Amino acid sequence: MGIREGLTMKSNKLGPEGQMKCHRCGSIMAYEKYYGLEGEFWGLRCVCCGDIIDQIILENRDSMTLGAPRL
Ligand SMILES: [Zn+2]
Repeated sequence: MGIREGLTMKSNKLGPEGQMKCHRCGSIMAYEKYYGLEGEFWGLRCVCCGDIIDQIILENRDSMTLGAPRL
């Protein structure tokens, strides 16, 4: 099932325990639910600097790193 594979990839990307260190300050990130254009989704918010990371941002960051030239 494609859906099942997608969920597995997401959980792997966010870490086995849903914990991830902030890429800016290295602090612990809190797992929180947000509401966007496509409905609710889960993201990570840094408890220290307030930086927010979600799956969409991660995917965009990956594609930008691979393809688009820097501006
Ligand atoms: Zn931070």
